[in-house]
Amino acid sequence: MEFTRRDFIKNSFFFGSSFLFSPISAYAAVKKEIEWIPAYEKLEMEGKLAQKVKQAYAMFENCQLCPRKCGVNRLKGEKGFCRSPVNPVIFSYHPHFGEEMSIVGGKGSGTIFFSNCNLRCVFCQNWPIAHEGRGKEVQDEDLADMMLKLQGIGCHNINLVTPTHVMPNILNATRIALKKGLHLPLFYNTSGYERLEILKILDGIVDIYKPDMKYMDSDKAAKYSAGASDYPEVAKKAILEMHRQVRVHKLDKEGVAIRGLMIRHLVMPNRVAGTEKFVKWVAEALPKNTYVNIMAQYRVEYKAYDYPEIARGITIQEFLEAMDWAEKYGLTNLDPQSVALRNFYHHHRAN
Ligand code: SF4
Repeated sequence: MEFTRRDFIKNSFFFGSSFLFSPISAYAAVKKEIEWIPAYEKLEMEGKLAQKVKQAYAMFENCQLCPRKCGVNRLKGEKGFCRSPVNPVIFSYHPHFGEEMSIVGGKGSGTIFFSNCNLRCVFCQNWPIAHEGRGKEVQDEDLADMMLKLQGIGCHNINLVTPTHVMPNILNATRIALKKGLHLPLFYNTSGYERLEILKILDGIVDIYKPDMKYMDSDKAAKYSAGASDYPEVAKKAILEMHRQVRVHKLDKEGVAIRGLMIRHLVMPNRVAGTEKFVKWVAEALPKNTYVNIMAQYRVEYKAYDYPEIARGITIQEFLEAMDWAEKYGLTNLDPQSVALRNFYHHHRAN
């Protein structure tokens, strides 16, 4: 069944008017006793979530959801740079164990892989999904059901991978799922290429942000991410806003992430990612205990073979110098797996 804008507005009114009689308001007092509740649930209790969903959905008419600002009317079937239709296209959803330990916990991160992408890097490791858009188009109600299934099998969070171009669908689906009992942190797993105006809509909805910081130099960003020369400046502002909203990485009693900012930075060959500038910037612009994952797993994928500078994996030395810079600039909350890998290489070299 097609979910039209009219349906959406009708739905919004339904949710809006039903709020007074909603089970959410009825059990709000009981919830006070519970230590943690998702940000979006608090917003719903304050009666503000419906308006955010409406505001986000209106953006589809003249799509400026990301810095590409295509201006297409996705409600009428027009497609912009990301090639995304108005409905979300989903490649897969399942518990995922390949994220940071605090995200994975014991039962996995409830990951939803959205197809298409607004950045489209030449070295993309998910290129069949991000570039070719492989996946299945679904309705927001289906997306809500996926969130609930992931919760049902015990996942610790709803991990939204490449969410930027489908943010309105995510908000609508979250609200639908909330009405049916969703009670997990919303984890926004993004390339970092985000507009401030859009992040303001997400304020009070997202619990955990995990942006990439891919490059610090605009010429590299333009060359390897489809002309996105503004990426470094855009991503830096976006990360500061994310930190303003959710502050530093916070764990529950079991050591599972429930809130905060986690930054990912992939070390690239030949210092393409500008790692020293990156760690220096974090140390100066954010608290030193900001969670930073310096990743060693760059591999030559998709069109990276056509670019000699990035047509090889990184060396051990390139990874170690990245970790040394992080230490030199005083970062104190590095991803434990990166630290373990650094220690392993140091130990290996010493023996
Ligand atoms: S989300 Fe897609 S259509 Fe909208 S501005 Fe970004 S690239 Fe363009």
